[in-house]
Amino acid sequence: MRRTLAIPATGKVLLENCTVIDCTEPDRQLPGAAILLSGPVIERVGPWSEVLAGFDLRGVERRDLSGMFVIPGLWDSHIHLGAVVVPYEDEYAHETPAHHMIRCIRKAQDNLRCGITTLRSLGEEFDADLVLRDAIAAGEIEGPRIYAAADVMWSQRATGPDEFRRAVRGAVRSGVDTVKLLSSGGIPWRSDSIGRGLHSFEEISAAVGEAHGWGKPVAVHAMGDETVVAAAKAGADTIEHGFVVTEEGISAMAEAGTIFCPNLAVTDAWEPEQLAAQGYPGWFCRNAEEARERHHAMFREAVRQGVPIVAGVDDLPEGPAPVGIEMHHGTLGLVEELRLMSVHGLGNGGALLAATKNAAATVRASTRLGTLEAGKVADLVVLGADPLADLTALTTVREVWKEGKPIRLTPSLEPGWQGGGIR
Ligand SMILES: [Zn+2]
Repeated sequence: MRRTLAIPATGKVLLENCTVIDCTEPDRQLPGAAILLSGPVIERVGPWSEVLAGFDLRGVERRDLSGMFVIPGLWDSHIHLGAVVVPYEDEYAHETPAHHMIRCIRKAQDNLRCGITTLRSLGEEFDADLVLRDAIAAGEIEGPRIYAAADVMWSQRATGPDEFRRAVRGAVRSGVDTVKLLSSGGIPWRSDSIGRGLHSFEEISAAVGEAHGWGKPVAVHAMGDETVVAAAKAGADTIEHGFVVTEEGISAMAEAGTIFCPNLAVTDAWEPEQLAAQGYPGWFCRNAEEARERHHAMFREAVRQGVPIVAGVDDLPEGPAPVGIEMHHGTLGLVEELRLMSVHGLGNGGALLAATKNAAATVRASTRLGTLEAGKVADLVVLGADPLADLTALTTVREVWKEGKPIRLTPSLEPGWQGGGIR
């Protein structure tokens, strides 16, 4: 066992003899590096000799990370902490807010202990993400940083630009960080096409205008061209899913500079034949089939056209119960998402940026978060292997630091843990 870490009164900790992957650009790697933490922020980062040049090491806790790799804290940019998907919907239909919150806390803490230090929560029953966000920020409970959209079901009911403006004002007043619009159907919709749009350009535009007026970014759930083009032209900050988008929608995103959060693992994991064998209803299987027909090919097109990409896991098929972090192929959902992004055009370095630097941009936090640079918040993950060589290194978590403080890892995440078994 390595000795436990004590933060000195100075708040200064030197992480040294490591390889730093700062995520300021793809594939950038600094061997023989050091990071000097000062309380919650990174004071210096770079080659060991430069970090220590002219520096008095008295009062500094030195931590030898020989053979290890340090990356910025990861982000899941599309999460639903208390989500319940089929076949559990009926069983959990009357869940109390208290029970719902327990599942939200468990999932949030699982994420943190896997190195995912920030979550963009894009729709949560009972506004549980707002409450949890504030409790974590106040230090009442351990957890990742949360950017919350709260309950977003109002956006399915709103009709006409005025209602959208009024509803966005209400969401902002309740304390959301991001305004989320559910602007088209999806896999769990009992309709003939998941691409059908719910909102007009005028409605989306009204919502975006109002949200931006309050300084809040807008995330739009958009499946096909009709909604993707409208959202991109209206100035939405991010487009979620795009399961049935074509080149037309991708070009609209590229032109507007809209960030794309595709959820590739969703269309990989909701596998129609397997779902049918498990007794899922026919309409659900048909939607899953439609969603995966061209989604990954269109993601490659988005990469080709230079659309900025972020990684979000969303809801994957649940194991024995809807509890804990999302898993796929026996590993973390986010790692699977990044692996798919890598093989479909981003490469490992680009995929890492989709869960760090680019993710911070979705909530306008790039000046404070997303990369390992002097002056930024000290959110970082220490890995036992090189994620630029192989993204499964992201499951070799040795240490997680949030705001300059080490997070206590659960026994299953101690060195040697290789994913799985934490449900
Ligand atoms: Zn979602």
